[in-house]
Amino acid sequence: MQKYSIFSLAKNAMSGHTKWQKAWRKPTLKNEYDVVIIGAGGHGLATAYYLAKEFGITNVAVLDRGWLGGGNVARNTVTVRSNYIRDQSIPFYVKSVELYEGLTRDLNFNMMHSKRTMIDVVLNYPKMRELRRRQLAMDIYGSTYEKITTEKVRELIPPLTGGGPNARLPIIGGMVHTDAGVNRHDAVAWGYARAADSMGVEMHEQTGVISLIKGQDGAISGVETVKGIVKAKKVVVAVSGHTTTLTETVGLRLPLRTMNLTAFVSEPVKPLVDVIVNCSDLGFYFSQSDKGELVIGGGPDSGQSFRRDIKQHVFEDTVGAMLELFPSFKKLKLLRQWGGHLDITPDASPIMDETDIAGLFVTAGWWGGYKAIPAGGLTMAHHVAKNEPHNLMAPFSVKRFKNLAYIMETGTTTAR
Ligand SMILES: Cc1cc2nc3c(=O)[nH]c(=O)nc-3n(C[C@H](O)[C@H](O)[C@H](O)COP(=O)(O)OP(=O)(O)OC[C@H]3O[C@@H](n4cnc5c(N)ncnc54)[C@H](O)[C@@H]3O)c2cc1C
Repeated sequence: MQKYSIFSLAKNAMSGHTKWQKAWRKPTLKNEYDVVIIGAGGHGLATAYYLAKEFGITNVAVLDRGWLGGGNVARNTVTVRSNYIRDQSIPFYVKSVELYEGLTRDLNFNMMHSKRTMIDVVLNYPKMRELRRRQLAMDIYGSTYEKITTEKVRELIPPLTGGGPNARLPIIGGMVHTDAGVNRHDAVAWGYARAADSMGVEMHEQTGVISLIKGQDGAISGVETVKGIVKAKKVVVAVSGHTTTLTETVGLRLPLRTMNLTAFVSEPVKPLVDVIVNCSDLGFYFSQSDKGELVIGGGPDSGQSFRRDIKQHVFEDTVGAMLELFPSFKKLKLLRQWGGHLDITPDASPIMDETDIAGLFVTAGWWGGYKAIPAGGLTMAHHVAKNEPHNLMAPFSVKRFKNLAYIMETGTTTAR
């Protein structure tokens, strides 16, 4: 793999940047692989990378119906954090944040990781109690969360001028999560793809999978793609909001529903806020990008949907909520908006498991799964390679819905 460095940058500048090696090859699709991964999003690519790096499994094809990194990995608001409440979740996300912090070096690709802290602005006492409970649980696993006063909240977020004592909902304090950060989503997809490719993994864009195929023994035997049948004894479904459209082709029903989540971006302005601001009581969050744009998100639309744009009422709810606390943002012009589709489980935790169909693995239920990409990829690769779940991933088995062993994780940000 060509090394990216200040020297290679200077050397390639001399030749007008025409001699850079392609980040990944475009090989011809073979008839058979050891492992087929469906979905070149964050989770599929990370799984491919760790399969090759940690377990030496390189006869792997990553298939995507579109272009690599063009799904939700490119459509999210890049918040990385570990302020969860359940014993099963916190260590998983702590590991993911830790891996993110070392990813630039690991992949030799600049992730632009900015560990900039998230502040929860709290407007009611039940929420504050819930976040304090979260703090106690997080303490056990080494994740950071600390209560701060309203004055401190205002000091750390200078444009926060609403929510005063006479407001409909006055601010009663805040919580600070210093492990939280943001980074660059394209770099995550491209970095994992480039590194996996360098170890022999094949990337196949424009190679949609139409259906999964079972053998006579009932185990998975391959996939039918738009380019023909590809055999594999192990198949990983990593297609985010489209999981059920594939698993149902072999009669596998999963407790998932697909919902639309959206975000929008303001015009660039001078540096205003150097933390991630989250207010789940009102239903909005934002951070400021390096270019100066405010990157703003709200809650998911409550109906099932495969749409990729924004519904007017979701947009209005989010903007209205934000203006209650940040009235000066009324002057900001909005540049663009977009949406993605996520699959959400009844307990808002992911499903990462080998299914009842031997050899068929699923990583799904990622409504906030950008932050989970490194740990999700590492633990899924472990399961595929060793035929047993990684201890960080074992609780997220699909069997938990049969045993009623839910891992309730609603309410972390704006998820209802
Ligand atoms: C607006 C928005 C904001 C978000 N903000 C955050 C955030 O701040 N923090 C956070 O942690 N998470 C966030 N998320 C969630 C996060 O983006 C997703 O949970 C995560 O990206 C999903 O995993 P992925 O990257 O593997 O999915 P994707 O990138 O969607 O990858 C799935 C891939 O599968 C491919 N595919 C689908 N069907 C097929 C098929 N039949 N054959 C072949 N390929 C197929 C798609 O083309 C796609 O490339 C947000 C999501 C949205 C939409």
